[in-house]
Amino acid sequence: MKKIITWIMLILSLGMIGYSGQIMYTNIKGNVEKGTLQKDIKKLDETIKEKNIMLTEVKTKDAELRKKYNEIRQQKGIKVVYLTFDDGPTPNNTPRILDILKKNNIKGTFFVIGQNPDMYKRIVDEGHAIAIHTYSHIYKEVYASEDAFFKDLYKLRDLIIEKTGVNPKVTRFPGGSSTTRAPKAIKQAIIKRLTKEGYVYQDWNCDSTDASGNKVPVEKLVRSSFCNVREVNLLMHDSYAKTTTVEALQQIIDTYKSKGYIFEVLTVDSPKFQHIKQPENID
Ligand SMILES: [Zn+2]
Repeated sequence: MKKIITWIMLILSLGMIGYSGQIMYTNIKGNVEKGTLQKDIKKLDETIKEKNIMLTEVKTKDAELRKKYNEIRQQKGIKVVYLTFDDGPTPNNTPRILDILKKNNIKGTFFVIGQNPDMYKRIVDEGHAIAIHTYSHIYKEVYASEDAFFKDLYKLRDLIIEKTGVNPKVTRFPGGSSTTRAPKAIKQAIIKRLTKEGYVYQDWNCDSTDASGNKVPVEKLVRSSFCNVREVNLLMHDSYAKTTTVEALQQIIDTYKSKGYIFEVLTVDSPKFQHIKQPENID
């Protein structure tokens, strides 16, 4: 009997040892894995930091090169035209404009509003600049207050980022920066905040006159769209009603080509075409 009890005790103790051994093993293994994971996370964090530094350097270099390029272009007297399209995109006009630009192998700048957002991507994919023209484009809403303007601007910015991955820094005021639809004090506050947040607004120095009515005759658009200056920022629209702008576009391009102009997109480093000057920076 005693012998049997001794055996049972022995078996039980062995079992206990085995059990606690397993717990110990699991704990050690867990700790080792945790340690390895923490090391991996640390390594990844360091990699992210390094890549961010590299990205900032590349961006700075890119901005410097763009600036240099613009300076050289100005020194050499190379003429440039910035084709700009406001109030789109629209399914009836924007794809036709993009087709024409593609055929001519030139790029334009699209000041979009918050409509047909699935069309933003093609604009970006084909190398054009996408820029902010406000989400609603409703004067009494966007110019109601500084906050109303920025709420609307951020809404469009977020939509553009979601659809294209691009965070645009170039904007255009509905009606231009000299619009009288915005109370003066509100507009000043908006300009100050745009500057503080790194936005550059672009007006125009050449008006196709396609905003003067719908179906403005092609000949009139072609005539108005050529401005004999070294740097042209040409205002056009790709909204639903502006069908004659599309019809005039090839002739407008041909005119500038024949006069030796190159075609560029607007960036924050481009020459500023502003009816009301933007301060250089805000402290
Ligand atoms: Zn507009």
